[in-house]
Amino acid sequence: MPKPAVLLSQKLNKFIEEALADDYDLLDMPQEGVNALGARANDIRAVIAFGGFSAEQMDALPNLEIITCPGVGYDGINTDHAASRGIIITHTPNVLNDEVADTAVALLLNTVRQFYFAEKWVRDGRWERDGAFELSPFSLKGRKVGLYGLGRIGEEIAARLEPFKVEISYHTRSPKKGVAYAYHPTLASLADAVDTLIAIVPKTDETHKTINADILKALGPNGILINVGRGWTVDEDDLIAALEAGTLGGAGLDVFYDEPHVPEKLLSFDTVSVLPHVASASVATRRAMAQLVADNLKSWFAEGRPVTPVPETPFTPKV
Ligand code: NDP
Repeated sequence: MPKPAVLLSQKLNKFIEEALADDYDLLDMPQEGVNALGARANDIRAVIAFGGFSAEQMDALPNLEIITCPGVGYDGINTDHAASRGIIITHTPNVLNDEVADTAVALLLNTVRQFYFAEKWVRDGRWERDGAFELSPFSLKGRKVGLYGLGRIGEEIAARLEPFKVEISYHTRSPKKGVAYAYHPTLASLADAVDTLIAIVPKTDETHKTINADILKALGPNGILINVGRGWTVDEDDLIAALEAGTLGGAGLDVFYDEPHVPEKLLSFDTVSVLPHVASASVATRRAMAQLVADNLKSWFAEGRPVTPVPETPFTPKV
């Protein structure tokens, strides 16, 4: 039996290649794109795609069966087209929940207490030269935290926040069964009720720039925005304007609208903490994500069933 041919749509972390190298015929995406694969396009049965895979790319691969995304957000992959062609898409839910939730809490603390700037003060020799670092204008103590999204990761963030003795509430499209946090049917109502908003929702048409001037203003001058979901959710112009006007206190951002571009202006605020989309980026978690990619392919090719298909391309066993 020849090894199934798997196309790597872009340069991915080494753990994925390590997890797949023995069992698959791995092909790198040609620089000129999928059409440059020539006759080899017919061999390809699986694609590993982070960052996106279009209908045109799928159609260039007539024997494509499965697209596995080494992340939980699969927003760039055309799910409708995959579903219409019977192509299964899988992703890597749950194995990254803890890492991303830890990052959200770290970013929140970093932002309210300005730890990046405090550490820089030491590293630049200023503690010895200039004395104590200034007092942070904000604190976590007594905050009302609203979660925009209470899915797999949102629940882990909330669980981590409980011991911090903050008040927790949330907004999702429908209330979540079995949670005691106060539910808000709209993002506006959540923003009115809290001073700290943590966004952990997917990139969809519905979430586009939903964190806008009105939402930021509702958080108030003491307000903090944390985003570990997708940059797509935040209107960055409105965010900069709110920070400049002081209608919002600060922001901690792991994700940006047009990555890796970060608006220069955002870097000028000392109540803004920025990270380069690293919420899941530890060796342990990236290994676990790579393993789940491998498990999906193994299960698909050995048993004809994926492990973690996305809801838009659910697995229906053939009877
Ligand atoms: P889940 O699907 O488990 O949770 C998504 C949550 O968002 C649910 O509570 C859902 O509730 C809510 N939601 C979805 N659409 C809307 C909407 N229009 N309005 C209000 N709430 C909405 O996903 P995960 O928790 O696993 O991951 C969430 C996202 O985090 C991913 O899609 C990804 O984009 C991002 N992410 C970012 C990472 C990073 O490195 N920074 C790492 C991992 C994930 P309901 O359906 O009831 O509305």
